[in-house]
Amino acid sequence: MRTLLLVAAAALVALQPPPSTMTTSYETVTLAPGVTAFLSPPGLGAWVTGNSLVVVGDSAALVVDPGHFPPLTRKMIADVRRLTNRPVRWVVDTHWHPDHWMGNAEYADAFPGVRFVSAPATRDSIRSRGPGFVKGHQDSTAVYKGYEAMLARDVSPFRPDRAIASGERYALGLAVADGRAAFPGWQTARVVAPDVTVADSLAIHLGGRDVQVRFLGRANTAGDVVVWIPDASLLATGDLVVAPIPYAYGSYIGEWIDVLGRLHAFGARTLVPGHGPVQRDLAYLDRVRDALVVLRDRAADAARRGLTPDSARATTAFDDLERRFEGDDPTLRGLLWVHFIAPGFPRAYEEARTAGR
Ligand SMILES: [Zn+2]
Repeated sequence: MRTLLLVAAAALVALQPPPSTMTTSYETVTLAPGVTAFLSPPGLGAWVTGNSLVVVGDSAALVVDPGHFPPLTRKMIADVRRLTNRPVRWVVDTHWHPDHWMGNAEYADAFPGVRFVSAPATRDSIRSRGPGFVKGHQDSTAVYKGYEAMLARDVSPFRPDRAIASGERYALGLAVADGRAAFPGWQTARVVAPDVTVADSLAIHLGGRDVQVRFLGRANTAGDVVVWIPDASLLATGDLVVAPIPYAYGSYIGEWIDVLGRLHAFGARTLVPGHGPVQRDLAYLDRVRDALVVLRDRAADAARRGLTPDSARATTAFDDLERRFEGDDPTLRGLLWVHFIAPGFPRAYEEARTAGR
């Protein structure tokens, strides 16, 4: 009996997320001379921040993605000043999700005259949606009290006919814990929108090294740019590649598949994903592409059968994809559903229906 109780207690503990370090720390990794990444913990919850990259030349420095949590961005800026006495002249926002641009204001304050670079669609979205996001982030109900209420209901937030799954419980638990931690830091946040846009390609000369900002097509969002550092054979991908769980919020599934093909063709030796560990080969990029192909093909199959969106989702199985992507870890498999399949499949289905008209 005692053993059974202990097992039950251990199972409950396993369902609770460990204390998250998302809002307080990152790992600093030197990837090449003058190229340093600030790597966030894997982004499995609702309040995450993107990896940040610093590229230093002889005359100036460039930062890719300034983070989501202003206090953490200020810590990064202190680290940048320890790395170099060159000023940060450029900050690239890879896309419009707030975990990739909310730190702009901190860089604007720290480095007067710094320019903010993005795709045109990203600038538009930050200008139109940014103020609402900042306001939302300053509201405790939106940030964590709503998640507490969802957790208390014990019903799946994505599949209301089911009990909450372990991956969903884990994600909601993190949403509460990290939201509480991040909330005070957002109270003084403000929108600083990009003032330089890249329709196709922009070369930035940092002195002794050049960096390219490239827009390769719609993919994870309407305006993803990547940053290519040829002398280090390094690509910062933004959320075109996220590990260990890809995100597919508001994505263009079919076009994303093509963009990842173009990204593969750079032949980079190092990939810095939008979130998650540095990749030393292209295998993970190809796995994300394969997962997108599964979404696209199953959506096309459901559209051919003339199903409604709801019945398409209800009758399409993804167990094989979850197993292939995350093995037997039930929490990670649940999180693939939360961050990739649940938001991505309806988009793929809509694309298939539109194409079939
Ligand atoms: Zn992100």
